[in-house]
Amino acid sequence: MRIQLANPRGFCAGVDRAIEIVERALDIFGAPIYVRHEVVHNTYVVNCLKKNGAIFVEELSEIPDDATVIFSAHGVSQAVQNEAKSRQLKVFDATCPLVTKVHMEVSRYAQKNINVILIGHTGHPEVDGTMGQFDSDLAQIFLVENTSDVENLDINNRVELAYVTQTTLSVDDTKDIISKLKNKFPNIQGPKKDDICYATQNRQDAIKSLTHSCELILVVGSPNSSNSNRLKELAIKNNIPGYLVDNAEELKKEWFKNIETVGLSAGASAPELLVDDVIKKIKEWFGAELSSDSGPKENIIFQLPKDLR
Ligand code: SF4
Repeated sequence: MRIQLANPRGFCAGVDRAIEIVERALDIFGAPIYVRHEVVHNTYVVNCLKKNGAIFVEELSEIPDDATVIFSAHGVSQAVQNEAKSRQLKVFDATCPLVTKVHMEVSRYAQKNINVILIGHTGHPEVDGTMGQFDSDLAQIFLVENTSDVENLDINNRVELAYVTQTTLSVDDTKDIISKLKNKFPNIQGPKKDDICYATQNRQDAIKSLTHSCELILVVGSPNSSNSNRLKELAIKNNIPGYLVDNAEELKKEWFKNIETVGLSAGASAPELLVDDVIKKIKEWFGAELSSDSGPKENIIFQLPKDLR
């Protein structure tokens, strides 16, 4: 058996920065540090930070006055930002700068009273944060998840309209949704390139490349990680069995029956040490050899907030 590693895989610049923000805040200010929502969607990462004194909450109301709070990489709405300000909480914002870019697009459209269609997944914290950037009495923001949602959109064709997207979507599905939007609303405005981030794009390209040579694809990532789920789905869409595993303990021997080459990747929030554990387990079971795909080099680094540098 052979294990073929996807390249690139695992941590992106936004996740690196978000985790470092929590770690540095703990070092500088000491525990407890409150984090609104899982700073990144990975069980292992969150448990490690908890051990070091981070307390994860879903709402600011769970945080005492005078506390230090970190907003997760997925971003928050203006209402949450305002609540933190009015309570004078010390805030470090770990929102990925690429999510902030989408926030700024939405808020600019709202200022001009241009209606916005956000392509994204209902209930995902990034979507809640982005929807919550839209503040206008004369225009509205709408959420669509798929092409049938576009068909059902009931918006007057004469109003000014723009679209933005969640950063971690399926590149192919989003293309279809955008083309449907452009058909239905020929004057719709959009970003020059859609808002799907470089890390999502590169990891999906790497999975596509694995589908040419592998009979099974494993993605290391937590069940609530959007970009990890999209990687698994991409394998399945290309008729290759794909599984998402949070760690090596979740592997099942029966998946490997009659498999010669296993593709292995990791979502943008999954640490490499979990990939190493998966490799170790497959080697233990089947004595597999390891090879790595070539892929684009990622050298993007996002700066930390000033007080944490
Ligand atoms: S997946 Fe993309 S948008 Fe999300 S944190 Fe990473 S770089 Fe930022």
